[in-house]
Amino acid sequence: MHLADIALQQSFPSVMVPRHGPLAAMERPGERLLIAANGIFLEIARPWLRVVRRLGGFQHRTAIPYGEAEAATELHCGRVPAHLIGEFAAMARAAHPKETGAWIVWNAASAAFRLIPVSILEHSGGHLKYERPVLAGDDVLVVDCHSHGCHPAFFSAADDADDCHDVKFAFVIGNCAAMMPSMALRLCAKGIFETVENVPSEWYAAAREEVLA
Ligand SMILES: [Zn+2]
Repeated sequence: MHLADIALQQSFPSVMVPRHGPLAAMERPGERLLIAANGIFLEIARPWLRVVRRLGGFQHRTAIPYGEAEAATELHCGRVPAHLIGEFAAMARAAHPKETGAWIVWNAASAAFRLIPVSILEHSGGHLKYERPVLAGDDVLVVDCHSHGCHPAFFSAADDADDCHDVKFAFVIGNCAAMMPSMALRLCAKGIFETVENVPSEWYAAAREEVLA
């Protein structure tokens, strides 16, 4: 086999889901395909997250002697501190009507979260181009935040293109000058986008407190 294929297949293996015993956990961060009796699943492991999603089923009913897999979401990092959302809301308000961005990173060794502003290359009231922060050591990206200036919070086609390769939460603050800015949140897992319908109420509270302060 071609050396490039050996490397690709080692970095993204397919695994037969056992029928009579548990599936061995992934040993390191990465991705793998799970071939199960009930379909093909994508499993992603990061220090802060494990996610399993079904990519598709089989077109024909044929006996596949494997076990079944199921969707899973395990957040190892715990809840994102609301005060960091408050800090980002303050940044978004200061940049308004232009857009801005920041990353909330989690340190796997210390279990501490912090907010890192991104270096902006270009920004206007309708777009943002930034340099991805270089993360050191045990820091991992958890929430990729950006603002929409005076526009409402939503995920645009440009956001979809920006987010399709990452494993993270994407978070948008809109109507940045309002007492209560609008917010949108979604989980991005290698092209799978899942909107979080209920943005945590403490995030709204943190953003509003900053306005009153
Ligand atoms: Zn956007």
